[in-house]
Amino acid sequence: MCIVAANFKMHKTRSETKKYIDELKKMDFKDVKVTVFPPFTAFIEDELIGAQNAYPAVNGAYTGEIGLEQLNEFNIKKILIGHSERRHILGESQEFIAKKFDFYKKNNFEIFYCVGEPLEVRKNGLKAVIEYIKSQFIGIDLNYDKLIIAYEPVWAIGTGVSAKLEEIKETHAEIRKFTSRPIIYGGSVKLNNIKEILSIENVDGVLVGSASLDVNVFKEMIKIAKDIK
Ligand code: PEP
Repeated sequence: MCIVAANFKMHKTRSETKKYIDELKKMDFKDVKVTVFPPFTAFIEDELIGAQNAYPAVNGAYTGEIGLEQLNEFNIKKILIGHSERRHILGESQEFIAKKFDFYKKNNFEIFYCVGEPLEVRKNGLKAVIEYIKSQFIGIDLNYDKLIIAYEPVWAIGTGVSAKLEEIKETHAEIRKFTSRPIIYGGSVKLNNIKEILSIENVDGVLVGSASLDVNVFKEMIKIAKDIK
């Protein structure tokens, strides 16, 4: 089994997302599990769709947020929690992230839980990286049967510079000691490096940002995943 997920971030409209999904579904995914995370306003009802974020409540006085009620309207059952852009740009604390995790776990969502270290931590070596990631596991049930861990080094996200294969290998091997759930890699995954990344032990898939925006590129990536795993 291999997981290939697209994070659109703040890109694409609903009609563009609909076209994208229609094009994507022309192919046979075989054993590859595909998920697409569009912005809220681009939600459509389709089993491939997941939410990039949501507030840990059914509904309520949380201006600018959406909750379970809004996700239910689209039958959405997958969510991304802890993405580094939400941690670092939007200031989400580990405590708040753990609350979200708990809420969406209780509601039986498949949770793509993102962890990853900033560059200054990576510069201090693997031990420091793992200590940092451990702090991102606080309050998270690592045995949840619908959990997928996404290891995404902050310095590799959207920079065009992916982590080195050896760095991915050793970090995933360390994370594996904490969980038997799938561990996927994210951070500048492109058509020219996806094959090597997916071939690494303990890499159970990829989370793709910028390179997923072109549906033909994303389809190519799924094709490669199908051949490898
Ligand atoms: C991401 O945002 O999860 C991501 C991996 O982005 P990119 O592929 O653009 O680095």
